[in-house]
Amino acid sequence: MSRNRVQHQKGLSDDAFEQRYPDEAACRKVWFAWRWPEGFECPRCAGTAYSEIRDRHLLQCRRCRYQASLMAGTILQGSKLPMRVWFRAMPLLAQGKKGLSNIELGGRLGFSTSAASAVKVVSARSAARLRPSANARMPSASQ
Ligand SMILES: [Zn+2]
Repeated sequence: MSRNRVQHQKGLSDDAFEQRYPDEAACRKVWFAWRWPEGFECPRCAGTAYSEIRDRHLLQCRRCRYQASLMAGTILQGSKLPMRVWFRAMPLLAQGKKGLSNIELGGRLGFSTSAASAVKVVSARSAARLRPSANARMPSASQ
């Protein structure tokens, strides 16, 4: 399939992707490391102990009970798409394929054209922020 060829060029292969990001939890872990490279710090009281509120992408400070969002202030803020969709899309988008149509993108990533459009809108808004982290943590299969 042409889809495989494209993914080898533009990002991780299907297998590599599945291995590295098997589920939402794996993506959340990686995202967390982007967000708080030095470890969690409460925005309100600077406490570092937290509990994770699963399924809501929230971390609750154990000291003051402030709920910090994993997504707030990032490109994923307000996104209804699963993180894996983003992880899939980021290497493609990070390579600055400006000419990529929504239909093309949706087809490559296996989601709907409207979702592809949403991904593009959000990522265009923060391309500068997206690019370094995508390159640092998600190297493309360079062969
Ligand atoms: Zn706190």
